[in-house]
Amino acid sequence: MSQPRLNSPTDIATCRDDFPALHQEVNGHALVYLDSAASAQQPTTVIDAVARYQREDHANVHRGVHTLSHRATELYEGARDKLRDFVNASSRTEIVLTSGTTESINLVAQSYCRPLLQPGDQVLITWLEHHSNIVPWQLVCEQTGAELIVAPVNDRGEVERDQLRDLMTERVKLLGIGHVSNALGTINPLSEIIAEAKNLGITVLVDGAQGVPHMTVDVQALGCDFYAFSGHKMYGPTGTGVLWGREALLEEMPPYKGGGDMILEVSFDHTVFNELPYKFEAGTPNIAGTIGFGAAVDYLQSVGLENIHEHEKSLHDYMVHKLVDVDGIRLIGTAADQASVQSFLLNDIHPHDLGTILDHQGVAVRTGHHCAMPVMQRFGLPGTTRASLGLYNSSDDIDRLISALEKARQVFA
Ligand code: PMP
Repeated sequence: MSQPRLNSPTDIATCRDDFPALHQEVNGHALVYLDSAASAQQPTTVIDAVARYQREDHANVHRGVHTLSHRATELYEGARDKLRDFVNASSRTEIVLTSGTTESINLVAQSYCRPLLQPGDQVLITWLEHHSNIVPWQLVCEQTGAELIVAPVNDRGEVERDQLRDLMTERVKLLGIGHVSNALGTINPLSEIIAEAKNLGITVLVDGAQGVPHMTVDVQALGCDFYAFSGHKMYGPTGTGVLWGREALLEEMPPYKGGGDMILEVSFDHTVFNELPYKFEAGTPNIAGTIGFGAAVDYLQSVGLENIHEHEKSLHDYMVHKLVDVDGIRLIGTAADQASVQSFLLNDIHPHDLGTILDHQGVAVRTGHHCAMPVMQRFGLPGTTRASLGLYNSSDDIDRLISALEKARQVFA
């Protein structure tokens, strides 16, 4: 199989050069980073944007009259504009800045669902979900007497569409579904699933943590109601994220947290809440991180989501093609449509042992349950080894993974 490349042969080398962390040795070997699904490395432009703010512009946002505060506010709100454009939200007021996907989903559970749900109502999710898209719904179901129901997946790791459809009844008040499974790489056919749910009047939240780094996302075209994502999966800083929500829904929702910035007026008798999106942004936010998040959006757009998608898709095909030739490999997750992630087992080697042996050879992968214990249980496994790709990976990285696996196989023979 020929080695995949970006559109032009120089692109891949250029991108890789933008990421300083990739240019180091780990345990005496050049680092091969195959853990971007957990957290992606950051390009120099992101690191520099954060450092510049810290060095020259640091001040609190929104409340200051002085120049530094104006500059900080401009940079921070500029990031919101970039994020609006990035997911094609119809208004910047629909971009709520959060600490990540987890907070975004908890916000919807507590602010949208908690006042709405009654005993007898249901929240529907799938077996593929990350704990962030399970536990917040469990909590709100316990608080309200509603029931959490789960659509099963098949042996390839695809959601069983007929059963998902059967579970969509008038009792379901919200469907929470991942765009891409972080454990198995399955890309859900979101447009079709969302259309089915919306036909029945079901509100849909998409966990987009693993979607936005790998493909163009247009929230208006998708037709969902909420879309949650994290900055650090898309080459930005940790502790940053977005909840995109339809304005009409966000308007109706009560604040999730109280504090500074989310108010217009406070007395001991009464508080008038701020307008969107600030109603949901209590307290001093992660200013530096969000500025870096904006720089990450610039970076992704300069490389081009279409280019990234094509590159990662051919690289994933190459990885699967090479993996299946390794004696004793069992792929976990073989959906027809997969993005950038491959879970596997090698003979009966425990994933943690395998991950350690790979690390000794400079190859960074993820091992364990990937914060998706139910889907691991679905496959009867405590965990897997997972290699996940970013835009900076190349076929050389896959070749290094394969030779490290061959070595591990010999060690455990
Ligand atoms: N959902 C998915 C699919 C994820 O992969 C992750 C991160 N592993 C999350 C949610 C949670 O993201 P965060 O920890 O950034 O809030």
